[in-house]
Amino acid sequence: MTNLYLNKGKDESLRRFHPWVFSGAVHHIDGNPKEGDLVQVHASDGSFIAIGHWQIGSIAVRVLTFENEPINREFWVRKLRAAYDVRKTIGVADNEHNSTYRLVHGEGDSLPGLVIDMYGQTAVMQAHSVGMHVCRMEIAEALKDVMGDQLQNIYYKSETTLPYKADLGQENGFILGQTPEDIATENGLRFHIDWLKGQKTGFFVDQRDNRSLVEQYSKGRNVLNMFCYTGGFSVYAMRGGARLVHSVDSSQKAVDLVNANVELNFPGDKRHAAFAEDAFKFLDQMTESYDLVILDPPAFAKHRDAVRHAIKGYTKLNARAMEKIPAGSLLFTFSCSQAISKEQFRMAVFTAATLAHRQVRILHQLHQPADHPVNIYHPEGEYLKGLVLYVE
Ligand code: SAH
Repeated sequence: MTNLYLNKGKDESLRRFHPWVFSGAVHHIDGNPKEGDLVQVHASDGSFIAIGHWQIGSIAVRVLTFENEPINREFWVRKLRAAYDVRKTIGVADNEHNSTYRLVHGEGDSLPGLVIDMYGQTAVMQAHSVGMHVCRMEIAEALKDVMGDQLQNIYYKSETTLPYKADLGQENGFILGQTPEDIATENGLRFHIDWLKGQKTGFFVDQRDNRSLVEQYSKGRNVLNMFCYTGGFSVYAMRGGARLVHSVDSSQKAVDLVNANVELNFPGDKRHAAFAEDAFKFLDQMTESYDLVILDPPAFAKHRDAVRHAIKGYTKLNARAMEKIPAGSLLFTFSCSQAISKEQFRMAVFTAATLAHRQVRILHQLHQPADHPVNIYHPEGEYLKGLVLYVE
């Protein structure tokens, strides 16, 4: 294995188990690793620190272990089993009412660069680093060992998540089994999961708990689900007894998906309608009075440079919604931009409330669910935040 040596003093964050080595911290490397190779990281005095995947870019190594141990099938089995145990503890796995959950959440499960979402008997696996891509078959074998017969298929979906410059030409496809069955359950509700063409791994698993909260508040309300995608919030609102539910997404494909998912759970139910429309245009032109509104836009800031622009976007969107909704309305508003902090998001919503000149109470402060854990040594893993507001 290639040995890598850090500059003096650059081992401190690693000694605190932060899982990244930045390229500026590297003093020298014995040898010439290829992107994705395993490297052994040493302090400037030569002492062992960690083993990880070598990368090209500002993060040079993503750490797999702080022990000097082999990275083999047994290693992956141990890591995946630990992740699975956490999901059983939370209650999302081995649950007859729920077959949709995140089994592996990258750094949050000490597996940087790897995401695995479970949808019934199918795992959708996504590599965000060349190292995890190289190990994909070994990880797939280990996953089969851990999950046994519950796992029949693994769909590998890394076409758009692998570093672009690595130019691997990887195509999406099954690496174990194959199935046309695309239905999974979440808290007893059923959803078509479009892992073949859908965004992310096919579903936004991270909103499960927040959808349940919407369900609790929906009774008798007129619900507007903005940026609905597969319509998770809409289906929960219907089960919660909403008077009507309108779903909006700029993509016609998303509108088709939400309609299919509503039909799957509430066939022929006339309370629901979906519109393919730009969110801002819809808010400007809407005539219906909605007293529960969900705003779950795509990440407005994908990079640090885009932060200021994104904050303006969140402010404008929230102000527009607050201007329109009647007194006594509930607003569920989210940001999934990792680059925007909880404080920045709250400030954007504060500014929106000021612009709309409304009295606003914060009822709940929301975040990602327990199957998207945050590694305490890697606070960067916290990305989803939401506020539930009571607007007077
Ligand atoms: N709330 C969803 C996830 C939202 S993903 C869930 O719970 O699953 C963001 C969605 O916003 C995407 O489906 C995308 O098509 C849509 N979108 C992006 N820009 C938009 C715009 N300007 N107006 C309406 N929808 C938009």
